[in-house]
Amino acid sequence: MQKKILVAIKRVIDFNVKVRVKTDGSGVETTHVKMSMNPFDEIALEEAVRLKEAGHASEIIAVSAGSEICQETLRTALALGADRAILIKTDTELQPLGVAKLLKAIVTQENPFLVFLGKQAIDDDCNQTGQILAGLLDWPQGTFASQIMLAENENKIIVVREVDGGLETVLLNLPAVITADLRLNQPRYASLPNIMKARQKQIEIITPDIDITPRLVTLKTEPPPARKSGIRVNSAAELVDKLTHEAKVI
Ligand code: AMP
Repeated sequence: MQKKILVAIKRVIDFNVKVRVKTDGSGVETTHVKMSMNPFDEIALEEAVRLKEAGHASEIIAVSAGSEICQETLRTALALGADRAILIKTDTELQPLGVAKLLKAIVTQENPFLVFLGKQAIDDDCNQTGQILAGLLDWPQGTFASQIMLAENENKIIVVREVDGGLETVLLNLPAVITADLRLNQPRYASLPNIMKARQKQIEIITPDIDITPRLVTLKTEPPPARKSGIRVNSAAELVDKLTHEAKVI
């Protein structure tokens, strides 16, 4: 029996780039900016690859929604261990509900037993897509996962979740939606032979007829206020004096 895992992959501005707000405040500059796979999606993909390597899955499908250029990011996913990739091609501005609807269509078509996503995309910080997808599918969800254990004979999965001030362990029925947190694993680097092999792998491009009209309007985007520069003091006594009488923090 085919045991597929679907992994959602978003192309975002690379986490090392200093993001610049467009002069008209309509968003952030993405032209001539280094783009990469969302770091949490790399972790999600790594977990899927480990499950396959441990014999729990037979195929990993990477899925990305966006413009044609997202194929580059899908190629990286193929080099990191995905078996094939699907690009849901659209030039419409994507918001979590729209992405979740598109992913649901692929889930219905592919029938995976697990869908992995990142816990959040580092560009919009929405932290919504996995939760909405689980809702649309009426599947259980294990969000902010820092550890997972399959109990396959029971058709269940144990998910350790990072919650405020500790860890929560939940038992979910499969199929399920899992969103990856930072500590789930340490993703591998793509090896040169795997980068070469990825060139031969298939990327299917589809354009489903699904209403993904944005529901939210961005009114404006502003950079954070500039930090004031620090001052140099000559002695510990002067520092204590300033903290006591000027900053009034002690
Ligand atoms: P968000 O809800 O926007 O913070 O995104 C959470 C996760 O949803 C991301 O880490 C991705 O796994 C997935 N996701 C969001 N947008 C896309 C997209 N355009 N294509 C594929 N996956 C996406």
